[in-house]
Amino acid sequence: MIRTEGLTKHYGRIAAVEDVGLEVRDGDVYGFLGANGSGKTTTVRMLLGLVLPTSGSIEVLGRSMPGSGREVLPRIGAMVEGPGFYPQLSGRANLAVFDASGPGRDRPSRAGRIDDALAQVGLDGVDRRPVRAYSLGMRQRLGLAAALLRRPRLLVLDEPTNGLDPQGIREIRRLLLDLNAAGTTVFLSSHLLTEIEQMCTRVGVLDRGRLVLQDQLEHLQRPTGRTVVRTPDTDAALALLDGHVERQEGDTIWVRADDPLALNASLVRVGVRVLELGPERHTLEDVVLQAATASGDRR
Ligand code: ATP
Repeated sequence: MIRTEGLTKHYGRIAAVEDVGLEVRDGDVYGFLGANGSGKTTTVRMLLGLVLPTSGSIEVLGRSMPGSGREVLPRIGAMVEGPGFYPQLSGRANLAVFDASGPGRDRPSRAGRIDDALAQVGLDGVDRRPVRAYSLGMRQRLGLAAALLRRPRLLVLDEPTNGLDPQGIREIRRLLLDLNAAGTTVFLSSHLLTEIEQMCTRVGVLDRGRLVLQDQLEHLQRPTGRTVVRTPDTDAALALLDGHVERQEGDTIWVRADDPLALNASLVRVGVRVLELGPERHTLEDVVLQAATASGDRR
């Protein structure tokens, strides 16, 4: 759905984006993670043809960008930082302006599309208010509604939950996951690791302009080969597991064992009470920090 090779953008001596090779597949919820200033917005702008790359190539929906923008852009929904709305118009009127710019727009189906988009983002009750009276979160939702108008196969969203309260974040997450389940590929940028962890299937991590990691979330969070056991009977457990224990903190023991079921059975057999037991997994936070450190060492 999106593929870049060697994508680079320099602003004078600032390397905003350096040699980035994105691969977003059909059906992904792709999380583009990076700290403030790491180059996410610049990358998203290049994908949409709003900023020209210094070098490198971009393909969106199988067509080269920015050259095929007139063909590609009507087929995707996009929201980039600070959606530009007319402050004196209502949300509905703003969406009508957006929608009118598309080809073949007949009035009845346009009204239906706008209603659907407003309802999807939870703005159907407030659409008569002028946009200047909107909170940041409401503007963010309206931006998302504009991206949904064309019922696109691909959504490209720069920090879509910025400015939303926890309830709003949860609603947008639910909405994006529902759209994805119905076949929409979602590419979203965020500086929030937990957000990416909660909703994405694939992750790309940008660190000071460079893509330091790109993989399926499931693979990044693979088991470490250790099993974590919580038990009030630590002494008995330690005696049984002697030679396999890597660490103990209070009632928690980390054991070198990749078969949690067998481990549980052997503990229970000797009367050790088990509160919790399961395979330990790598956390996204650890993997991201390791990748950033390794990349920093190479520079
Ligand atoms: P944020 O989360 O804060 O939006 P970001 O990851 O989106 O950050 P970018 O906005 O892409 O990062 O910025 C990456 C780098 O490029 C920063 O050092 C920024 O100052 C620089 N930069 C971005 N746009 C321009 C520009 N038009 N002119 C000069 N430098 C720029």
